[in-house]
Amino acid sequence: MGDYRKMWESLGMDLEKHDALCAVLPELYGATYLTQDNRPDGMNYFNFVISEVHGLRIEELSRHRENGGKVLGTFCVYVPDEIINALGAIGVGLCGGSQFWIEDGEKILPRNLCPLIKALVGAKISATCPYFQSCDLLVGETTCDGKKKAWEILNDYTPVHVMDMPQMKRSKDIEKWEEEVKYFIEKLEELTGNKLTYENLLNSIKLINKKRRALKRLYDLRKYTPSPISGLDALLISQIAFYDDIERFTENVNKLCDELEERIKNLKPNNKKRVMVTGTPMAIPNWKLHYIVENLDAQIVVEETCTGTRYFEREVSEEGETIDDLISNIADRYMGINCACFTPNTGRVEDIIKYAKEYKADGVIYYNLSFCQPYSVEYKKVEEALKKENIPLILIETDYSTEDSGQIKTRVEAFLEMI
Ligand code: SF4
Ligand code: SF4
Repeated sequence: MGDYRKMWESLGMDLEKHDALCAVLPELYGATYLTQDNRPDGMNYFNFVISEVHGLRIEELSRHRENGGKVLGTFCVYVPDEIINALGAIGVGLCGGSQFWIEDGEKILPRNLCPLIKALVGAKISATCPYFQSCDLLVGETTCDGKKKAWEILNDYTPVHVMDMPQMKRSKDIEKWEEEVKYFIEKLEELTGNKLTYENLLNSIKLINKKRRALKRLYDLRKYTPSPISGLDALLISQIAFYDDIERFTENVNKLCDELEERIKNLKPNNKKRVMVTGTPMAIPNWKLHYIVENLDAQIVVEETCTGTRYFEREVSEEGETIDDLISNIADRYMGINCACFTPNTGRVEDIIKYAKEYKADGVIYYNLSFCQPYSVEYKKVEEALKKENIPLILIETDYSTEDSGQIKTRVEAFLEMI
């Protein structure tokens, strides 16, 4: 990484503490990613993005702000990127995936809270994440209780706009959500000084649809046996999707897919078990479960998570004569995401069964971040449904620490032997 200290300083970062974070990441990345055999050449772009995660991309965000643009931090796949982009702002996904930030998060939050929330609050209050420091506005949502209350705390440090999410998906809830999207547009127009038009919204929808399509293409390639790309690499790409430049990212995912299409012609069969992961999001640099599973005799072939299928499935319809039609298409697309924060959430159970079949999974790992209530309560419904379909399932509840890695390895090993 180049010398970015001046830039970090100007962002108000705690440089000393940030140095400690920078010392951990490359080592973790090297041990997790660069030790994999036979990676596609197309992964070099994503290696580069990671090597510059606190450098070049932050420089791009700074340049954007110097030119009068705004940067928005988001935490959930329900916040519509199409609107942010159409109004000339850059959206970056900020969910914290590192154990590094937990200690600071626990200084002001209860310990028995999901690590994702503790890490995101820790990242802000410790001033060690240049993405947080680059944001003009954070956009929270009222999905789960922990997040809902965390916005009040974050608001003491930086401006937060909260989107009021419905908890059900009846037509009156969807209408309410559409109103909420309109309110978000109003707030963003004020912040950016730009006006949403039919043209800029349609262009933005098309751009982001292309990105989702590229990810879908990548995931479709994982349906081959054996999959031409590791689950670790696919997860990394999904994580990078949340903050990289949209066009450049899309182009590089498509380039990688071209290479994988060639690769599948010469792949030799192997006996690796095909595993599907479902559950809570895995924010960067949370690679723990994938690392454990893929260092056993298995390959992760799909993630039904927010850092997986929930992020890219279903495009926003490009049909519509008016700006209101397009806004309504956006509201519809986002309400089609099946998060455990909704009740009931039968769509997710159907998705899991559908993906398990499509990706030919031998078994499913239900990944639950510790203290995440919506997903842990929903486990029962998923368990019952998969039992009926004869799809083997195991529940892994964990956080970001490595303390339980040995135990998880033993459990996954036994599961793989059984399936
Ligand atoms: S799990 Fe639910 S609340 Fe969390 S990012 Fe995904 S959609 Fe949002
Ligand atoms: S993982 Fe669960 S508890 Fe954590 S932020 Fe997402 S929905 Fe909330």
